Amino acid sequence: MSATVDTLPATGTQPAIAIRPRQPNSLHLTEIPRGEPGPGQVLLRIRQVGVCGTDRELIRARFGAPPPGEEALVLGHEMLGEVAAVGPGVSGFAPGQLVTATVRRPDDCPACQAGQPDMCQWHRYTERGIGGLHGYMTETVVEEARWLVPVPKELEPIGILTEPLSVVEKALRQANLIQRRIAAWNLKTAIVFGTGPIGLLGALMLRARGIEIVVIGRRAKPLLAAEIVAAAGARYVQAAERDLPEIVAEMPPIDLILEASGRGTPLFPAIEILGNNGVLVLLAGGHDDEVTISPGVIAGSLLRGNKVVVGSVNSAKEDFELAVADLGRFEELWPGLASRLITRRLPGLGEYQQILEHPAGDVKTIIEVG
Ligand SMILES: [Zn+2]
Repeated sequence: MSATVDTLPATGTQPAIAIRPRQPNSLHLTEIPRGEPGPGQVLLRIRQVGVCGTDRELIRARFGAPPPGEEALVLGHEMLGEVAAVGPGVSGFAPGQLVTATVRRPDDCPACQAGQPDMCQWHRYTERGIGGLHGYMTETVVEEARWLVPVPKELEPIGILTEPLSVVEKALRQANLIQRRIAAWNLKTAIVFGTGPIGLLGALMLRARGIEIVVIGRRAKPLLAAEIVAAAGARYVQAAERDLPEIVAEMPPIDLILEASGRGTPLFPAIEILGNNGVLVLLAGGHDDEVTISPGVIAGSLLRGNKVVVGSVNSAKEDFELAVADLGRFEELWPGLASRLITRRLPGLGEYQQILEHPAGDVKTIIEVG
């Protein structure tokens, strides 16, 4: 028996936003079965779903896979939901509670089996709304309770940002783990490349820890991203790669760089401007633009400076928990600021075609499902 607060139909179908992975122009509204929570499972009523660059790449047929035996993949991996019913054996979750969920589900590799699917070695994992598992762009979802992360009611306006924030939480956690090699690691100064949700949430995360940061982007002010950064006590600089040495000349040594722009051109200069013993974390794909660089310059900079370049993808449940805690901190420090990242709200699943649009100044688009 499951405990239900209100009446959600347990049978029948529901609308869902889907693609046929790797087929261009396949974005469509489909119908998928509703489910009921089994042992260890929770039925979620989806409240909001975020749209991100990954969704747009999926729609552009760059990658993605449907669940086994199916042709379509329901999109959506950034979710804020409400517990509608809990299955047998579930504790710690009750109807009415707000939750989000991690994205990746483990395979049989040693890392996944040790509880770290975000560090999967074999890459046979599945991911909600990306590969092998339907996502959250529908009305209700049955999810394993073990992948759920509670979101306090007071964070309802910004809880949808938990997943993208968890990605930068992992980046910082990785940097701190790596820097255990340095007896005197003291993160004081950082640079963030990129003014999308990842870059901006990274900036807020670092500012919430009192770290001096400069956010570097391509676009000129006035810019919402620049306003958000300034409100958090950071500096936004519109810069070309050639300007970077000049910018860092005025700053203390750079302990950490988050690369969230996805552009190739700042990548190698970033290695050079990174301070000794510093860490550069790559958070965005892309980097399609071509650059000419001397391997000797890069290798020499890394070697002489004991520098680390590390990739960081996906995030662990602990990063989601860190993200929820940080969203609370953001509200204390800068009430209402994080909600300014949500620049577009689509009123319902029926507006699915607007997902593809990316108007100027758009930071985060969300779908208000219910
Ligand atoms: Zn694995």
